Amino acid sequence: MTESEKLFERASHRIPGGVNSPARSWRSVGGTPLFLEHAEGPYVWDADGNRYVDYVGSFGPAIVGHARGEVVTAVQSAASKGLSFGAPTANENAMAERLCDLVPSLDMVRLVNSGTEAAMSAIRLARGATGRNKVVKFTGCYHGHVDALLVQAGSGALTHGIPGSPGVPESVVADTISLPYNDISAAFDVFTEYGDEIACVMVEPVAGNMNCVPPAMGFLEGLRDLCSDHGALLIFDEVMTGFRVGLHGAQGRYGVTPDLTALGKVIGGGLPVGAFGGRRDIMEHLSPQGPVYQAGTLSGNPLATAAGLATLEIVSQPGFYEAVEATTERLVTGMRERAEAAGVPLATNHVGGMFGLFFTDRPAVRTFEDVQSCDTDRFARFFHAMVAGGVYMAPSAFEAGFVSAMHDDTAIEATLDAATDAFASLNATTEAARHG
Ligand SMILES: *Cc1c(COP(=O)(O)O)cnc(C)c1O
Repeated sequence: MTESEKLFERASHRIPGGVNSPARSWRSVGGTPLFLEHAEGPYVWDADGNRYVDYVGSFGPAIVGHARGEVVTAVQSAASKGLSFGAPTANENAMAERLCDLVPSLDMVRLVNSGTEAAMSAIRLARGATGRNKVVKFTGCYHGHVDALLVQAGSGALTHGIPGSPGVPESVVADTISLPYNDISAAFDVFTEYGDEIACVMVEPVAGNMNCVPPAMGFLEGLRDLCSDHGALLIFDEVMTGFRVGLHGAQGRYGVTPDLTALGKVIGGGLPVGAFGGRRDIMEHLSPQGPVYQAGTLSGNPLATAAGLATLEIVSQPGFYEAVEATTERLVTGMRERAEAAGVPLATNHVGGMFGLFFTDRPAVRTFEDVQSCDTDRFARFFHAMVAGGVYMAPSAFEAGFVSAMHDDTAIEATLDAATDAFASLNATTEAARHG
């Protein structure tokens, strides 16, 4: 038994499924999760001392690389001054100002403790500010485990085949409408029918929880127009894409400005942080200025703002995103070449520092149906071969991959070498199966 196996055995007695978040479970690929012991740069080490090139990056936050000196020092220095006060601190101003400077839609912002909280609060605010109840979302998008949004959701809910969730009453999702991603005509039809009842449309501007699916040409623009025409609010859930696809988020990249934005992941630099913000006249509905209630004992926590500010400082350096994107491009191009050489059909998507690998015959992946056409058994075999070759990826065919600024030539070459063997092993297994 490996150390990870022993640890997982123990975990399973006291932690449901042995993990504190379903996305970490290996149920869909088989086997037991690696327990990680430490991380540095582009690498993670497991409890048995094995090193892996990491493409999980804590599911997005680790864009500057693990245990980056500037971030660790900032957190240590903040910790020595006290861990939490329940009173305002100067760094909360610095964080709010920085976010409003960088993210086009933000006039005002409030810090929370997770992406789930950010999405949940943004929905409440949109409903409170418009006096309407209906919420439009998209199948395969994930906005945290918010009751009203756990309808046809992505990420762990998709991996483990849970379209909704027991414990979410019908009444709570009665005003939630889930539409196909990248299908603007479906959104048009819903607005024609319910236009004056819709409080908001919430969308991942690059879908990152059904693997990685970029927005179709005109999709985000179309949603913007529909919302403006009908007095509904457009909410971009940029918890994943914020500071991942560019310095100004997906909204900067695609030039579409939402009314509200949810953030998380990268802005916490590895600590638990979320944020939501947007137009001043909407944000002023929030308590204590307005009547829409929202609160948090640890919101704006000093360690979290220190880690966040240090991370935002690094990603603001000129050329940061160009370099991360070039690395990502090199990785997916190399993957496609290796797959083709081995005769394995593979489609890829990538935007900024996020990417998707799809074991499908379809030439391109643009919709939820395309994503679902992927061969999950083949992915599972690929995943295990990559782990054996020293590469750590998310244990699901439906999670995106993440590249950091610390993924250098050595790390990418090692990954592509492992992939060459992994693709070859898929063929070997297929041949064996075919010949009985
Ligand atoms: C990860 C994620 C969330 C949830 O954030 P947590 O910090 O896990 O609560 C919400 N929306 C999107 C788009 C995400 O990727």
